[in-house]
Amino acid sequence: MAGTEIRSNRNNSGVLYVISAPSGAGKTTLCRQLLKKNPDIKLSVSYTTRQPRRGERNHVDYTFISKARFVKMIDKGEFAEWATVHGNLYGTSIKRLKELNRAGYDILLDIDTHGAMQLKKRYANAVYIFILPPSVEVLEERLVKRKTDSKDVIAKRLDNAKSEIPYYKDYDYIVVNDRLDRAYKELECIIISSRLSTSKVDPNRIKKLYKIK
Ligand code: 5GP
Repeated sequence: MAGTEIRSNRNNSGVLYVISAPSGAGKTTLCRQLLKKNPDIKLSVSYTTRQPRRGERNHVDYTFISKARFVKMIDKGEFAEWATVHGNLYGTSIKRLKELNRAGYDILLDIDTHGAMQLKKRYANAVYIFILPPSVEVLEERLVKRKTDSKDVIAKRLDNAKSEIPYYKDYDYIVVNDRLDRAYKELECIIISSRLSTSKVDPNRIKKLYKIK
């Protein structure tokens, strides 16, 4: 089927999906669902100096490294972007992005706003998606219900959220996560439409298929 042929001959660079959100917006749940349902999208596993949480696996959730090693990687220019988030260092490896791209995958980057803004300079064609909670009241309610943080930490997370939300303007798409099923559908629509973009089709393939010059 011609449509299939065009689809399977997207120009060879995969799409980078960069997703950011204030904490408590539901980004992790949405990203997990997206990865589970779309085996052709792989997570860019970040490097971090933070301690692993219970259940987290090295090289699957993050690659956990020392601060000294992280600084060495910065010095060697190994990160496409890096940032300090809640006192810990996080970074995206250029090598990992290249490997995933070469293997034909689209790549999901779950990173903070500072990292995303750095990436914009390097990867202008990436798709930048911002997840928002429906309101600051709902965000607070979610953080309280999670029961993972003390009152002080919740207050800090809310403050952080308020300083991150204005960055929405620098993203291509906004998803308001009021209901998870709807937010997920919207996220999937963004993925589908970005894949249908003219820039994702190999012009030589079109010429060959339709016998045009
Ligand atoms: P957590 O420690 O809760 O997994 O993540 C904290 C924050 O760090 C999240 O907002 C997450 O998106 C962000 N983050 C994770 N990996 C990276 C990365 O490689 N670069 C940047 N800039 N932020 C990251």
